[in-house]
Order: sequence, then structure tokens, then C-alpha cells
Amino acid sequence: MLETTIAGSLPKPSWLAEPRVLWAPWRQGGEALAEAKRDATILALKLQEDAGIDIVSDGEQSRQHFVHGFLENLDGIDFANKVRMGIRNNRYEADVPTVTGPLRRRGGVHATEARIARAHTGHALKFTLPGPMTIIDTIADRHYGDRVKMAMAFADLLNEEARELAAIGVDVIQFDEPAFNVYLDEVIDWGIEALHRAIDGLDCKTAVHICYGYGIKANIDWKAGLGSEWRQYERIFSALAASRIDQVSLECANSRVPIELLSLLDGKDVLAGAIDVASGHVETPDEVAVTIERALRFVPAERLFPCTNCGMAPLDQALAYKKLEALSAGAALVRGRR
Ligand code: ZN
Repeated sequence: MLETTIAGSLPKPSWLAEPRVLWAPWRQGGEALAEAKRDATILALKLQEDAGIDIVSDGEQSRQHFVHGFLENLDGIDFANKVRMGIRNNRYEADVPTVTGPLRRRGGVHATEARIARAHTGHALKFTLPGPMTIIDTIADRHYGDRVKMAMAFADLLNEEARELAAIGVDVIQFDEPAFNVYLDEVIDWGIEALHRAIDGLDCKTAVHICYGYGIKANIDWKAGLGSEWRQYERIFSALAASRIDQVSLECANSRVPIELLSLLDGKDVLAGAIDVASGHVETPDEVAVTIERALRFVPAERLFPCTNCGMAPLDQALAYKKLEALSAGAALVRGRR
């Protein structure tokens, strides 16, 4: 009960990539980079286990960014000429690659790190992939000419990848869809259908992570303008509850999402963020327990998984693991009271 897990990414060691930045440049190349990624993956697993995390991940140590890490091994994408584009409805600008032809996987994108992770932990293993809507919001298009058509093409590739990861022994595959709180109508029109294509035929658990973004300035400013209550999810939760996705991951720590909205996710596992990734404060176990208890008013304990609000990639490494220790200590407190 109340098994702990993380949203996905973890900070990378300074010998692998520049610390405390998003899109951090690698500090190795060629064979040394492959070795460093492997070592960092094993280290991330060990540190999660030591922090008491039950369902661990590779910490996304082998990808520079949660979206482009998947795109880099696909045919049909021009990475050489990046285009500056407003993403998440122009919340911020990013230099993105362009789809220039039919999309195809060149082979397993994440199979190497999934195999390494599977070989080095006995814990349940979670693996994250970007969701189709978030991908098409983070790439330019000069081939498909239609957002939905392109999203479905990506969903088919994600499905191939996910099947491969499941066969390697991954227990939970999560699709990251921060775009789901930006394009609410499209979530209902086609976003969930795209996820269904991505999970088709999978025999492992499936999850979707929705969120208000990393703790970077553009997101903090955006959130400040959203008002005292964030009710965006009210429009999509019933659709998610009716979907074939098993789990929904969202932020509950220092979030203005009204906690009672969780009752709209009836029947789903809820990965409730009890760690704020936008703050340098290490939560106390009591603070974590309060967040978990609030969620427990609307989600049965057997369906609640204490989690981080979002990815931790841009955080200080030591800080991130202290926060994970607080997460498991807080979950243990709540377990002890039941
Ligand atoms: Zn997130």
C-alpha cells in the first residue's frame, strides 16, 4: 500500500552532463558517453533504492530531454536545422527539429538503458516516454501538414517502442503529456485516442503524467497567472477516467489543483505528487504525509502512489535525493497510521 515512485527524470551526475540545467549538454562523447550513461543509470537506481523508492526508473539518464531523447533515433526528422518555435501555446520558445518525411524507428530507442536498468534492480521498474500530443507540440512539421495525423504517426512508433520495453521487463510505461493541460479540447477530441494507440496490446501497467511543468521560470510565471484555483483538469479528468490508461500522475504538492478533483479519476491509480520540484526546500516527512492524507480523502489507499510532482532533471542532485528520502519517509508515516 502507498508504494512510492517518481514522475521520471532525475538530475544527472556532473561527469555525465552539465548540472542544474534543462537540455544540459553532455560532458562525454562516443564510447565514453555510452559508458557514462550506463554508470549514471545504475547509480540512479541505487540512489532511488537507498532513498526507499519502491517503483524506480532509469532517471532518464540517457536522454538530454524527455521529448527529444525519443526523437533522436527516428528517421524522418531533421535535427541539423532547428527551428525556433513557441511551444505549450507559446508559454516558451524552444529550438526544435523538423519532421521532413515519413516517421520510422531506426530500432529500439531506449532498449539499451531499459535492459541495463532491468538487469540492475529487483524493484518494479517504470519507464517514461513522451506522449504524442506533447511530441507534436515540441517539433516543427514540413511533412504531415496535419497535427492529428502526425500525432497518430508518433503514437504508432511509441507503441512499437513500448511493446519492446515491456518485453524487456519494464513494469510500468508512462507517457508524459504536459501538453494535456494546455490543449484541453484536443485532449478529448484526439489526445486520449492517440494514447490508446500508443498503449495498444501492452501487457504492463500504463500511465499518463500530466502537469504544470518543471520548476523553471517560464512555468512559475505562467502558474502565477492561473488564478487561485487551477481547475483545468476538471475538463479532462472524466475523459481520463473513461480511458484505458491505468494510472494518472499529477502534482499535488504546493499545487492549486483543487484536491477534490481527484475524485473524478475514479477507478484509476493516482500517482499523487507530494514533492514540489520547483522549490529548494526539502519537504519534511510530515509535510509529505499531509499531502498524501489530503489525496486519500478522494482516492482509496490501494490506488494511491505517492510520487514527485514532475521530473527532477534540473534540480541539484543532492537536493533531489533528499526529497526522495522525504517522500518515502512521509509515505511510511501515513502507512503507520492506517
Ligand atoms: Zn511534469
